[in-house]
Amino acid sequence: MPELPEVEAVRREIAPAMQGARFEHVLLRRANLRIPFPRNFAGRLEGQLVEALTRRGKYLLAGLSSGETLIIHLGMSGSFDVDRDGAAGGLERDGGRHDHVVFDMSSGATVIFNDPRRFGLMDIAARGRLERYPALRAMGPEPLSPEFAADILARACRGRKVSLKVALLDQRVVAGLGNIYASEALHRAHLSPRRRASTLATAGGAPREGARRLAAAIKAVLNDAVERTMSDDYRSSRFRVYDRAGAACPTRGCAGTIKRIVQAGRSTFYCATCQR
Ligand SMILES: [Zn+2]
Repeated sequence: MPELPEVEAVRREIAPAMQGARFEHVLLRRANLRIPFPRNFAGRLEGQLVEALTRRGKYLLAGLSSGETLIIHLGMSGSFDVDRDGAAGGLERDGGRHDHVVFDMSSGATVIFNDPRRFGLMDIAARGRLERYPALRAMGPEPLSPEFAADILARACRGRKVSLKVALLDQRVVAGLGNIYASEALHRAHLSPRRRASTLATAGGAPREGARRLAAAIKAVLNDAVERTMSDDYRSSRFRVYDRAGAACPTRGCAGTIKRIVQAGRSTFYCATCQR
């Protein structure tokens, strides 16, 4: 399941082909992915300029010159290929069996959406409706935005009685964080995943020291992961704790061992010695 870093890496890879370019032709090979494509999908895209390709949590957002916004989620198995020579190539690959959407862009590139399991989605928010789009409306702060810092994280955790790990998976607390990077960030911040989320803030909602460490750790872990995803050592042994139960803790000077526990039905990996 792609988390924020994988989605951000996809954004950076397809942005040169799409940003500042017009949709010349849109080919839909099916009526739906996880949900049906919106009415007149191709017609609402063709001729429109992509003014900006941004990301919100795990969603890609293409702002169109019409004022509408193309919303894309990769689901479990969605991916994009960019054929820079246009036409040919990508269309033939895989017999096109899982190539469900093909964008011919005025940049000369063909951008192909492939999704074998079809949990992805593409939708269009009408002009002025993006803020009210259900999946985006309640979404919490964007961790890679310049504004994201201890005060924002503390405010989001204030009064929450759930564990810190469970809070981090809540998209209303932080947008786009998933199971892997929640464990990684907590280890980097030396905070126990079992700690109550509310302990990051004072009663008045001001950030405590833990909030400072965690906000910085979230940014660092996500930025590292974006870089690694875009380079060739993707999926090499890059995690500090995730899926490393029984391994020695990588914290310098710590003699602890990584443990696996289950919180809200999901695996958490951490070191009980240096994460408090
Ligand atoms: Zn440790």
